[in-house]
Amino acid sequence: MGRLRRSRVHNARRDVHRAARTRVRTRDLDQIQMIDLDPKRRAELEAQPLDFEKPGLAQHYCVECAKYYETDSALNSHWRSKVHKRRLKELKEPAYTIEESERAAGLGRAERKQPVVVPPPAMEVELTT
Ligand SMILES: [Zn+2]
Repeated sequence: MGRLRRSRVHNARRDVHRAARTRVRTRDLDQIQMIDLDPKRRAELEAQPLDFEKPGLAQHYCVECAKYYETDSALNSHWRSKVHKRRLKELKEPAYTIEESERAAGLGRAERKQPVVVPPPAMEVELTT
């Protein structure tokens, strides 16, 4: 009887630690929705000045995914990819806002009822004979 295999048996292990590192952290969906997708800001992001710290000198940026690409063709193939399309779908969902959380806690304005205005009683005309 040989040695039982013990290593590399956990095949469902995902690289969670790596994904949680601040270095690979990208912008949140609500940040993209509320800030980056604004047409003015979007144009700014798409025409960034040369940055030697960023991949591809920051010339090929995907606004939806908040990601830099090395070349134009890499960016173009990214736009056709599943990752990007899934991201577009995620961005269509309305972002979780402070208003929504307040509404959930019952503090929102939408739920607050208007005070009931009691109409003043109509003057009764007393008939005197
Ligand atoms: Zn993308």
